[in-house]
Amino acid sequence: MQDGLIDSFGRRIDYLRVSVTDRCNYRCFYCIPAEGVETAARSEFLSYEELSRLIGLFSELGVSKVRFTGGEPLIRRDMVQLVRLVAARRGIRDLSLSTNAHLLERYAGELVDAGIGRVNISLDTLDPDTFAGITRGGEVARVLRGINAALEAGMRPVKLNMVVMKGINDHEIERMLDFAVERGADLRFIETMPIGEAGLEGGSHYYPADKVLERLRNHCGENLFPVKGGKGAGPARYYQIGSGPVRVGVISAISRHFCEGCNRVRLTAKGELVLCLGQEDTVPLGEGLRRGWSDEALIRAIRDAIARKPERHEFGERRAVVRFRDMSTIGG
Ligand code: SAM
Repeated sequence: MQDGLIDSFGRRIDYLRVSVTDRCNYRCFYCIPAEGVETAARSEFLSYEELSRLIGLFSELGVSKVRFTGGEPLIRRDMVQLVRLVAARRGIRDLSLSTNAHLLERYAGELVDAGIGRVNISLDTLDPDTFAGITRGGEVARVLRGINAALEAGMRPVKLNMVVMKGINDHEIERMLDFAVERGADLRFIETMPIGEAGLEGGSHYYPADKVLERLRNHCGENLFPVKGGKGAGPARYYQIGSGPVRVGVISAISRHFCEGCNRVRLTAKGELVLCLGQEDTVPLGEGLRRGWSDEALIRAIRDAIARKPERHEFGERRAVVRFRDMSTIGG
């Protein structure tokens, strides 16, 4: 194994998020603009063998955690095959998935057999009409069945992600917490991020994470405890309800950035390496791979890229909105 990936700020990069497609079967208004987004031609997407080769190189460089995301990862054909290929790579110890769960009831069992251990599921509301409104046509009942299927298949933890939006779903914060506790699922409340044109739309409903926390404290009273050691490399601040197993987190990309602990980079379906969610710089590893670069050349390109990973995003500062990129391409 090679030396690990340490960026110029001393952060160890051991986590890769892989967007397997830029297409989605939902059209969440804060993620995808009404007129849709320009998607890449399918021929530009790396094949599963190509993606697995790149992921294998990252694993040689010390990346042990991989999360598949999208677009919606489960709409890419035979996604389970990619999971199997990556699970077989030496050094990969933690395989997870981010999904809207529309297709999860069908695939949960196979995904677990192939190596997926954990899942993050987007669930902004429990109300069928609000859900159809936010997602422009999605069906919350299917998602709830997907959540049950993930729990039954043994994925742990199952984390629910709720983007909290003023005037849209902020009245459901407490109800969502009760739902998560009942199911034994973790829950994270997320601030809207100004990414892409649709992110602007979402930003107009911005609801600060500190206000969510205040509501949780009021709802749970003495029963809400900060999780000891709960501030890991990830962006969430975690709390637990009583002595129960469920963890509830808030993610505040805007009001409190969490870049100093950043341990991740992202790969798009075309094989572009994205160094920071909120900065422009990408490295076309997929292009290099298709031009016949050797493993050594690709590893050099990865190391050079990590050396220039930016210190932090600039949401809400110099650049109010990240216009150059859509969340649906990189997968959050
Ligand atoms: N389709 C999958 C899903 O639904 O989880 C994976 C991709 S989706 C882009 C990943 C996450 O990004 C979702 O939880 C979604 O709510 C979140 N997201 C998209 N646009 C966002 C925005 N502008 N602000 C905050 N979160 C956003």
